[in-house]
Amino acid sequence: MHTPDYPSLALHVAGRWITQASGGQRPVINPADESVLAELPLAGAAELAAAAESAQRGFASWRRTSALERFTLIRRATDLLRERAPAIARVLTLEQGKPLAEALREVTLSADIIDFQAEEAKRLYGRTVPPRVPGLLSQTVLRQPVGPVAAFTPWNFPMNLPARKLGSALAAGCSVVLKPAEETPATAMALVQCFLDAGLPPDVLNLVCGEPSEVSSFLIGHDAIRKVSFTGSVAVGRHLGELCARGVKRYTPELGGHAPVIVCADADLDFAVKASVTAKYRNAGQICASPIRFYVHASLLAAFSERFAAAARALRLGPGLDAATQMGPLTHARRVVEMQTLVDDALDHGARRLCGGQRAERPGWFFEPTLIADVPAGCRLATTEPFGPIATIAGFDTLDEAIALANDSCYGLGAYAFTAHLHTAHRLSEEIEAGMVGINHFGISQPEMPFGGWKDSGHGQEMGAEGLLAYTDLKTVYVGTP
Ligand code: NAD
Repeated sequence: MHTPDYPSLALHVAGRWITQASGGQRPVINPADESVLAELPLAGAAELAAAAESAQRGFASWRRTSALERFTLIRRATDLLRERAPAIARVLTLEQGKPLAEALREVTLSADIIDFQAEEAKRLYGRTVPPRVPGLLSQTVLRQPVGPVAAFTPWNFPMNLPARKLGSALAAGCSVVLKPAEETPATAMALVQCFLDAGLPPDVLNLVCGEPSEVSSFLIGHDAIRKVSFTGSVAVGRHLGELCARGVKRYTPELGGHAPVIVCADADLDFAVKASVTAKYRNAGQICASPIRFYVHASLLAAFSERFAAAARALRLGPGLDAATQMGPLTHARRVVEMQTLVDDALDHGARRLCGGQRAERPGWFFEPTLIADVPAGCRLATTEPFGPIATIAGFDTLDEAIALANDSCYGLGAYAFTAHLHTAHRLSEEIEAGMVGINHFGISQPEMPFGGWKDSGHGQEMGAEGLLAYTDLKTVYVGTP
């Protein structure tokens, strides 16, 4: 059984690809038609130990390479990634479901993200500090790679999220054990292959899949691992944080969000609706910074709701490989069940369905683009990240009220607003409690800019200059005269 364009699956452990492992195997499913794409080998304790030890060996040599050597090698890898992007994008769409054009953009943007980090590693400056004690020649602050990294990435951006972690870790001089999501392993395999083909010493980069909780507890508990990076849900992020605390390991959690969108009375309505619908249903809403809670000024609420619902209803659902598709399926079956549960609970509590609200009648894990109005505070949709194609909408009268509504969440990842007034934009950017704020713009994830959340959405950043620093430790050096 084998799907054309989809590779056989393997783990990269201790310098070689292995197609059988002691944890058994599981199928990888095409979410657009629920067919089996391939069988994925699963690592057990033997392969996990081998991967961690390999990363330790890899770190011993990689940390000694110069930033320029690392940069040159990483640039070769991203050249390969760009060359292979069309084929990799097909693999990504087959296992994840998003439209092919979105998959292709994800792959090429990932190359840009990695390049930025490799460039930035050439500027990983330390500093010298004037000594206060006689006889001290110099006091220097150095940044050194933190050590072997365990990186855990989810299935919604199977290339972009591994790229964020690998790009920074490898550029900083760290080795990595990557555990991509078991739902979408082939895209991560393709990225690892680019690095290997570019000449990366094989021990520097291991890739394992398995039972997620067993893999994470094994790797985080292993002495070789010095740093952990995780993207996923708050519940898992909190659990991994506890495991890291036991071993006093550095940890960067990038968790969920429940992004508000404030549409002010002075907003350009056509522009706001068009941008909002595109951003909401991109990747079928499976984005941590996806807009979710729309708060619209009372004067625009009826028109905004009507136009938003009409545009959402008009979106063409289908397999990502079909060029006409605007929204693909959800990546796994449990997300469809979760969407229905959230919608039904909201409607039972008195909310109103403006469009969508149920599984689409076709094969595959499709859920209709959905807009729900007047969601009462007590129901799950008011506070739970849907991580799917559901938006909520409510009105407001004053900006104070809108800001209070937006901030009334345990999350603080992305937040958005539409306004034509500069002073309103300033006020919102000051007062919104979120790591990233987009005003008249949903593009808050750019390679040059740090990306990270406040509150339960996590701490630390990926990308930008800060993304690289997260993979370094400080060392102070004092040199005296004998
Ligand atoms: P989940 O939390 O079970 O899984 C999310 C990811 O974490 C998956 O890739 C999974 O393999 C991994 N994971 C799960 N348990 C783990 C463990 N103990 N150790 C290591 N990795 C583990 O949730 P799900 O049903 O797959 O996804 C839905 C939820 O995940 C959403 O509600 C959303 O909040 C969150 N999510 C967030 C992001 C993000 O970018 N922040 C991405 C994907 C999923």
